[in-house]
Amino acid sequence: MKSNLWIEEKHGDFLGMNYKVEKVLFSGKSKFQSVDVVQTKGHGKMLLNDGLVMVTERDEFIYHDMIAHVPLFVHPDPQNVLVIGGGDGGTAREVLRHPGVKKCTMVEIDEMVVEACRKFIPQTSKDLDHPKMNLIIGDGLEFVKKTKEKFDLILVDSTDPIGPAQPLFGKDFYKDIFNCLTDDGIVVSQGESGFYEVEMQKKLMSILNGLFPVSLLYNFSNLTYPGGLWSFTFASKGLHPLNDFKEERVKESGLKFNYYNKDIHKAAFSLPTFMKNNLSLFLKG
Ligand code: SAM
Repeated sequence: MKSNLWIEEKHGDFLGMNYKVEKVLFSGKSKFQSVDVVQTKGHGKMLLNDGLVMVTERDEFIYHDMIAHVPLFVHPDPQNVLVIGGGDGGTAREVLRHPGVKKCTMVEIDEMVVEACRKFIPQTSKDLDHPKMNLIIGDGLEFVKKTKEKFDLILVDSTDPIGPAQPLFGKDFYKDIFNCLTDDGIVVSQGESGFYEVEMQKKLMSILNGLFPVSLLYNFSNLTYPGGLWSFTFASKGLHPLNDFKEERVKESGLKFNYYNKDIHKAAFSLPTFMKNNLSLFLKG
């Protein structure tokens, strides 16, 4: 029988995005959220947490290129990397492409996300058993409070600020992040929509601005997030994403990307006027 199933992802009470679904592959409810994997007609397999799109096979490379390679090419020698969240495995996959990385620790709160992605979305989860991977099922908030380890890069690949991810958008979390970064450490975080989530973005940037000598934000296009225009925050103890970016390293690395390149790296930090106006108080570096 031909499927006539569509799903709608709602953003607030005013916006929705619809996808034609060919098959529901997995549907579960963990302690933290609902987890679904569906085969869509237009975007390949899609992971949803609490009904919100996390990744789709067709466009996940954009998000994962931009969360990982921007800081990996700014830091001169990133060896120890921490990913918080990121249960689909796409961010860790990109981190592990850099041969200088010696260890990638990933702290994901929800085992169901990891297992569902292992089984149904190998495109993103394929490197979760890589020898350099240290996968921990646990709360990222608790991890950064307790760990004695220092990281060159921390990538906060979280869901939106609801449920277990809410404290990941708070000041205490970023104080702990500051403490477990090395002296030239960088933290990049999923920074929400600069169009629809202005207050959330201001809050996050004001926290980073208060704690870090460099606090900036960069944009990328995400086709399956509401509005398409999405951002990452970039904060560091000194390294600047443009002044300290040695662009020749991208070519020298021999790595091939579908979205990231040296020009996108630089352009991403050029913000449209409405975002500059909203965030001018908090951009520093
Ligand atoms: N790219 C995605 C996005 O922004 O839509 C995020 C992908 S990844 C699936 C987000 C992960 O963060 C989820 O699997 C969720 O379980 C995890 N997460 C949420 N809160 C967390 C916490 N406190 N500690 C660790 N992981 C957390």
